[in-house]
Amino acid sequence: MKTVNSQNFAGKKVIIRVDFNAPLNHNRQVTDDTRIKESIPTINKILNDGASVILMSHLGRPKGGYEEDYSLSPIVPVLAKMLDRNIIFSRELFGEKTKAEASKLKAGDVLLLENLRFHPEEEKADESFAKELASLADFYVNDAFATAHREHASTATIAKFFPNKKFFGLLLENEVNNLEKVLNNAHSPYTAIIGGAKISSKIAIIKNLINNVDNLIIGGGMAFTFIKALGGNVGGSFVEEDSLEIAKEIVKEVMLKGVNFYIPTDAIIADKFSNEAQVQTSLAENIEKGWLGLDIGRNSCRRFAEIINKSQTILWNGPMGVFEMPNFKQGTKAIAISVASATISGSFSLLGGGDTVAAINQYNLGDQISYVSTGGGAMLEYLEGKQLPGIKALLS
Ligand code: AMP
Repeated sequence: MKTVNSQNFAGKKVIIRVDFNAPLNHNRQVTDDTRIKESIPTINKILNDGASVILMSHLGRPKGGYEEDYSLSPIVPVLAKMLDRNIIFSRELFGEKTKAEASKLKAGDVLLLENLRFHPEEEKADESFAKELASLADFYVNDAFATAHREHASTATIAKFFPNKKFFGLLLENEVNNLEKVLNNAHSPYTAIIGGAKISSKIAIIKNLINNVDNLIIGGGMAFTFIKALGGNVGGSFVEEDSLEIAKEIVKEVMLKGVNFYIPTDAIIADKFSNEAQVQTSLAENIEKGWLGLDIGRNSCRRFAEIINKSQTILWNGPMGVFEMPNFKQGTKAIAISVASATISGSFSLLGGGDTVAAINQYNLGDQISYVSTGGGAMLEYLEGKQLPGIKALLS
């Protein structure tokens, strides 16, 4: 990995792919500046070398043309404050005006380009679009882990115009180093906790993880697909009928590989998908008709906590229940506390995915986790064992 720390950028222009895809409220103000904050160490390292930087990012999912709602302009004041300097904002990504703007940059200047996805060429990984962006700078840095699984112009294609002049940003480097700790260098006992609604989106990661883990804990809606596949009665719980066979196959593979497999034994059930529903506890494998499982039960929390507490390495992706509703958040909260307390006792823990990160922050436990990944899809694909296009482009 060639990282920005291996290069002095003095006097040069550096184009950096950052992830400024921050959530905005209806007044178009940034409501969570984590992503912007995460990019600051790399930007400052390059500025402190005496270089100028050109920043590019996407924001949301515009339809391929300019839409004010997706402009990066709300990022400008937040970034200016964090970097303690003026930001030049270019409404365009290329063209004569942008080129002139870029060529005027002096050491310490920061130019932010408008949302890359206002041009459909970005997501099509268009070569001439990437070349235009590349023409603005002497070096290329990618620090946007959350989009590293996308083969886009700014994340992949652009790198080919910078042979020997392309670098991992500090965030991207940190992500890779930490993900390697659970993918290839995990200390045993190693426990993976996988939750969330759909098994179908996690099949590949589960299949890859069972080659490495000692314990596999399944929670969330997907647990009911497993329970039904194993012959249980799950009432009206969320089940992916199409995935019942694959769930059976996974269980078989887990047994063959000697992995300890844990699914919830009890569940918090409700008579409708609502926080106002009637609530009861039930055996997870025997839920009555008209009821649905929306969280793991107390016994399951206790059992999962015992496994987590004995683990040296812990990976967690996906909530244990419908944690957005207060009546069904206890399972996710209990697991968050268990992971945090194992970490305090010296285990290595890594978690990621939008809902899991939101949950850990909701309980103010983010600081007690060894590493919180900034990538959802990118993290899953990395842990599936895939080489991400954004990373491959920097290595080749
Ligand atoms: P995913 O994007 O697949 O990780 O799923 C996250 C979503 O799963 C969250 O919005 C949760 O509310 C939802 N979820 C967790 N447990 C359940 C459950 N038992 N039934 C339905 N949805 C669930």
